Amino acid sequence: MDKFTEMREKMDKMPAEEKEQAMIKNRSMCICGECPTYSSCMKEKDELLYCLNGKSVCPAVMKGCICPTCPVTGMMGLGKAYYCARGSEQELRGK
Ligand code: SF4
Ligand code: SF4
Repeated sequence: MDKFTEMREKMDKMPAEEKEQAMIKNRSMCICGECPTYSSCMKEKDELLYCLNGKSVCPAVMKGCICPTCPVTGMMGLGKAYYCARGSEQELRGK
């Protein structure tokens, strides 16, 4: 089993409160705010953590993606990019 699937399954088994804490922790590590693609609309909506939450509700003009350098990428075993425009890792894997 690859790391992302393992982490996803681990989170799915967590009690709701623990899962919420894990999401808060991941969100605090998200570096989307420093990315050229991160727009004022995304900021206004207080969006982050697209890799797990899925696409932005704002139009995403792709100007580069810094997800590969984010600590969440290594921790969660992510392998994609432009989650704000394309959807979550899970959605992109078709699962
Ligand atoms: S991988 Fe990308 S979307 Fe996910 S937390 Fe990091 S910067 Fe945010
Ligand atoms: S998901 Fe990637 S492209 Fe979108 S804002 Fe975050 S770092 Fe930038």
